[in-house]
Parts: sequence; C-alpha cells; structure tokens
Amino acid sequence: MRLITFFILILVMVLCSGNAVAQEAFIDMKSTHFMVRYTLPEESAAALEVLSKAEQILDRISRDIGFVKYTDFWTWDKRVKIILFPDQISYTRFTGQAQWSRGYASRNSKLFRDRVVVTYNGQAEMNSAILPHEIAHLVFWDLLGQNYAAAPEWFEEGIAQLEEQDKRDIVREAMRPVVISGKHIPFHVFMNLKPSEMQDETQVSLFYAQSLSVVLFLIEKYGQDSFYRLSKELRNGCKFEIALTRVYGGIFTSMSEFESRWLKYAAGDGG
Ligand SMILES: [Zn+2]
Repeated sequence: MRLITFFILILVMVLCSGNAVAQEAFIDMKSTHFMVRYTLPEESAAALEVLSKAEQILDRISRDIGFVKYTDFWTWDKRVKIILFPDQISYTRFTGQAQWSRGYASRNSKLFRDRVVVTYNGQAEMNSAILPHEIAHLVFWDLLGQNYAAAPEWFEEGIAQLEEQDKRDIVREAMRPVVISGKHIPFHVFMNLKPSEMQDETQVSLFYAQSLSVVLFLIEKYGQDSFYRLSKELRNGCKFEIALTRVYGGIFTSMSEFESRWLKYAAGDGG
C-alpha cells in the first residue's frame, strides 16, 4: 500500500514538473562527500549505512589512484547524490534501466541532473560490489575529464570492477574455460560494445567478465605505470587503438596481437 502511495506521489510530481523526478519525494541524509536520498522513513538505517560505506569506499579509491585532493570536488553543493529506490520494480520503472541493472552512475543524468549513483535498497551486494563499482565510475569520469568518451566501455567497466570485492578471482576462474573453448567476445566486436544497449544477460555477464580480465591482463603483465599512461592518453582525447600502440608499442603491434596475448593470459598460459 505504502509503495502504491509512493508511485502515485512520484507520478503526480513527474507530471507536474516536466522530466525531473520529484525532489520532494525524497528524504535526504548528508556526509562530507555524499547525500543519500531515500523514500521511506523506515529506510533511514539502511541509508546511514550506505552513507558511511560510500565515504570509506571513496577514501580507498582515492588512495588507490593516489589522487586524494580530488575528493575536494565532491563537497558541499557538489556532493554526489546516491538515490535509493525502495525496490527493484520502482528503480527499473522510473529510471528505464535494463532488467539486469542493479545500479548505475551518471554525471549529468536527465533524471537527476547531477553526479549521481542510482540504485535500490535490499541488495546483499550493495557494499561489496554496487557502491564501489559506481563510485569508481564517477572517479574515472572526473579523472578523464571531457574526453572520458574516448575510452571504450569495456575499459571503464574493467576499472570499475577492480574495486569490487573478490571479483578478480571469480573472473579469472570463469574466463579460463570461456577462452579455452573460444567463446569469448572477439575484440573487433568487444571494442565497441555498450552494456546499456545489451539485453541478453549471458552476453552482459560475459562482457563484464571479459572487461575485468583484459584490464587485469594489462595491469598484471605490464604494470600500473603503463596503465596510467594509457589512461592519460585517453584523457588527452587519443583513440584507444592509437593510445594502446603508443604506450605498449613494443609489445602489441596490432589489435590482433593484443587479443592473442590476452587470450593466452586468460587461458592461464602466461600471455
Ligand atoms: Zn559499470
């Protein structure tokens, strides 16, 4: 019943206020860098937990990437908003996200017009996976600046998943039989895939696993410094293929060599 009231309230507000989600429908809770917005008073404990975890995660990511000062950009009115819908149905319905989506980040969404993480309550993986993943996206976009679109989506998704707890080992195990049986996504397709346009959940899972595997391959085989240089080339607006050969030119002379070396690595043959 309460949920129905919430739907009606949101619907009326949306109709009255154009395309913006009704700001009045949310209760706010703030910390230094985040503002959690939730809808039901009894969700305040969950909202508080999300808020404190988000601060811890941002602190960890900032230290991981060695760019602590960067967090100054997220204070006061630039706090990142974390929108917590009460459940998956309302989340999917009001955001238009795919059925498989558990959350997303945006830095200028039509719905919320700000840096936001949008997700819903009651998910077991909120602290270990969803929040770290989405906050990593926001950090990535700020670091890459205006040229973040130059990075292929797998590159960004691979980096976001580095922050998810236990994901690396799971993906290593999962990808081995996939590449051995030749069922990976060929690089000429993989380079241009966008998960937001994919509906097949098996393909989406494979896309994410392969994304993390390729990012791990670059970092583990050729080091963090080269990986940073690759990100820097992308920040300067360089196309991925060109950035790759600039940084790893002595190693990969072509995309097909990049692919074949990754295949060896993912199959456990060293790469
Ligand atoms: Zn993502």
